[in-house]
Amino acid sequence: MLQTKSPSADNHPVLVAPPGKLTVLPLGGLGSIGMNNMLLGCDGQWVLLDAGVKFPDKQEIGTDLVVPDVKILSRLEGTFHGVVLTHGHEDHIGAVPFVLKEQWVPIWGPPFALGLIQNRLREHDIHNAQLRPTAPGNSLKLGVFDFQFLRVTHSIPDCLSLAIRTPAGNMLFTGDFKIDGGLPCGTEFDAAGYKAFGDEGVLLLMADSTNIQRAGRTLSEATVAQGLLDAISASPGRVFIGMFSSNVYRLHSIFRAAEKTGRKVCLLGRSLKRYLEVARKHYPKLNLSGPIIRENDVSRYNPSELVFVCTGTQGESRAALARISSGNHRISVQQGDTLLMSARAIPGNLREIAAMVDGFSRGGAHVQSRNDPWPIHTSGHAAYEELADVLRWIRPKIFVPVHGTRTFMEDHADLAEDCGVSEVLVIESGELLRATQSEVRSDGLVEIEQTYYDGSRWGSRSSLGIKERNEMAHNGAIAVCVQMLPNRVLAHVQAEGIWTDGGQLEQDVAGQLSDYLTGLRQLSDDTIRQETRLFVRRVWRQKAGKKPLVFTTLIRSGEAT
Ligand SMILES: [Zn+2]
Repeated sequence: MLQTKSPSADNHPVLVAPPGKLTVLPLGGLGSIGMNNMLLGCDGQWVLLDAGVKFPDKQEIGTDLVVPDVKILSRLEGTFHGVVLTHGHEDHIGAVPFVLKEQWVPIWGPPFALGLIQNRLREHDIHNAQLRPTAPGNSLKLGVFDFQFLRVTHSIPDCLSLAIRTPAGNMLFTGDFKIDGGLPCGTEFDAAGYKAFGDEGVLLLMADSTNIQRAGRTLSEATVAQGLLDAISASPGRVFIGMFSSNVYRLHSIFRAAEKTGRKVCLLGRSLKRYLEVARKHYPKLNLSGPIIRENDVSRYNPSELVFVCTGTQGESRAALARISSGNHRISVQQGDTLLMSARAIPGNLREIAAMVDGFSRGGAHVQSRNDPWPIHTSGHAAYEELADVLRWIRPKIFVPVHGTRTFMEDHADLAEDCGVSEVLVIESGELLRATQSEVRSDGLVEIEQTYYDGSRWGSRSSLGIKERNEMAHNGAIAVCVQMLPNRVLAHVQAEGIWTDGGQLEQDVAGQLSDYLTGLRQLSDDTIRQETRLFVRRVWRQKAGKKPLVFTTLIRSGEAT
């Protein structure tokens, strides 16, 4: 538990959680996908529900992660108890190291999620964090917040919904979920727990909107397990299966299918092995023993005795599937192979995925990338009818959809109204919400600034130069050295990442720039740099249709300025 300062050191206004009201501030995940972080306040006390990151857009070049505005945690007036996690997906736990760099608080979460976090913390050189396991059926009192953990099913083991009793009223935060009665180790969605909490009376329900646009119900993992078994049985040669590393239920199904078909399993991709190791240690109820062989031993087996499980379902160039597809892996595609894409294609990655899959087709593999003829993938997020079940079981006074684009959340809001919820609000990240038994209202926008992690440094868009990286990638860069001598001006121009007409343009511009600046030599250094930049950009725009970044070094009388 940490007493926060008041007011904040950097003069931003402090955030207040008044008595008798639920205060909710999403730091991400509402209005876009990923980076799920929900600040919850009441009676001057605060908790953070989930602490996730998201992967950067293609324009955010050179960055690995987008991190929520954890600096806001130092602006909370009162007591910040720590972070309570629902499950171990990166978009729910990836920001924990960054939270701990900002505030040294306890982290509560299911053991599988905490196991994954331990690995992340080691990468960030963070030791002795206060990681405290939670479990379904257990409760946890953090000041005015009385948590009860409800088991839910999803595409990763050990997932919880958070039922929270507060002086202002009860709240249910679903986290990611689906209602799946067919998980390998008998894990069941706690529908009875949901209904009982609903019967108690729930002021606020916040539920996952990811799959609101999918009609009906999601397929069960059990159906996919059978589909994978059928697909593998029907394959004459080697089988490659692309899947998300975190879905160890799927891995369990593949192990069982391999055993039944007399095949060995070779895991290609470090993250697969990492998740497997954590699951074996922290979620032992799932039997993840399997007929695994090492990559070096593959040659001892016939093609019909092999299954390769691979990372890289989104066509990532450095992952196993893309490297195999492009011939940059020890294992290459052969006639008679089968590729089963047991994962969703994320819309922004379709081109890369198509190129990767084409490589398999070109090499003679048969490719199945949809649930036809066999069901080989299912989503971990509840579809329309499952979301309707939750709304009917909980019957909240107020419903706020979370985890989705604006359109998804609007659709989810429509469903809630159809299910009879009287107060339905759609808000986006940064919008402050106050709720009491008698009213709910938006209390304006809070300025939040997401930051970026580029593999070694963590900073804002401007401090990491992300805009400039993007400009250089699209328009190239030009270094100009201008030397002001007593009787003339010399300019040297060097371009990178842009057309130069075989170097001729660099020479031409250097000559023209020297002439141009000769008449301006009395001007200030700043003005000369500015004129140089404008001149060079103008020429390249006319000749090459590009506006490169221009860096100028100015030397007067032999001295750099
Ligand atoms: Zn998830």
